[in-house]
Amino acid sequence: MSFTLVIHGGAGNITPAIMNAQQEKEYTEGLKEALDSGYDVLRNGGAALDAVVATISTLEDNPIFNAGRGAVFTKKGLNEMDAAIMDGSNLAVGAIAGVRNIKNPIALAREVMLHSGHVLLSGSGAAEFAINQGMTMTPDEYFFNQLRYDQWVEIRDTNYTQLDHKGDNLKSHVPNPEYKFGTVGAVACDEKGNLAAGTSTGGMTNKRFGRIGDSPIVGAGTYANNATCAISCTGHGEFFLRAVVAHDISCLMEYKGLSLQEACNTVVKDKLVKMGGEGGLIGVDSKGNFDFCFNSAGMYRGMRNSEGKEMVAFYG
Ligand code: ASP
Repeated sequence: MSFTLVIHGGAGNITPAIMNAQQEKEYTEGLKEALDSGYDVLRNGGAALDAVVATISTLEDNPIFNAGRGAVFTKKGLNEMDAAIMDGSNLAVGAIAGVRNIKNPIALAREVMLHSGHVLLSGSGAAEFAINQGMTMTPDEYFFNQLRYDQWVEIRDTNYTQLDHKGDNLKSHVPNPEYKFGTVGAVACDEKGNLAAGTSTGGMTNKRFGRIGDSPIVGAGTYANNATCAISCTGHGEFFLRAVVAHDISCLMEYKGLSLQEACNTVVKDKLVKMGGEGGLIGVDSKGNFDFCFNSAGMYRGMRNSEGKEMVAFYG
């Protein structure tokens, strides 16, 4: 019996210089807790898909990550979340975009996949579907977080958008060295060799006009196919959308015979860099090979497998 779980909690300018001991402790504990919840599912013979939902739900409940409870604020001071899940065994997908007041967006994405007859639901329609399915809805206050609020207050009177950390100015495309991304994701290979991938995010602080990033878009921020790999991305979503990152990695493996690591390096460290797209991703293949790949200074990340290997790391 062999299985692997890999997670991320966002990429960006994550260096020892911007982290204090307390933050390192909080992120280590948050990532370990999420790994444990997915590992328990896999150890009990559970499916990769269920491990991904359990892992991401734990991350969504932890306000230090930009997903679920810790989702950033939009221009209107709301929390609008995106999430997707994909089952590599049958290429089934469920996704939600711009949804409010849902406690666990990844669980709603799975409901969409299993019970809606559709792939992607958005906004109030997705919330209506969630209520019909008996999902847990939460009031706006549940999502209040002083740090996220302060990040938003700094720029709410501008048309600037920022990626989960102060200073990233996407309007002028001036990268600020302080920024980091706090989206969460998980990929898993279960004992049957089935793969699954999931991603969940609050997107970008001060986002307007119903902006949607790469996370809920199949093939861009999230993709899984038993024949190749399962991928979850984090980074500047507009670039990940344009580069169709997750599916591109799968294609390089399927059509060109590249290994998971070779394919990830090609896309993240060459193609995305040339486009100016910063961020990273996690991947696993059906043999349990895994990869963390990022072109930013760091990425909150971790893995745990049936061979007893376990690790959590932040820096490059
Ligand atoms: N990729 C996400 C987005 O653009 C942000 C992130 O990874 O933090 O919505």
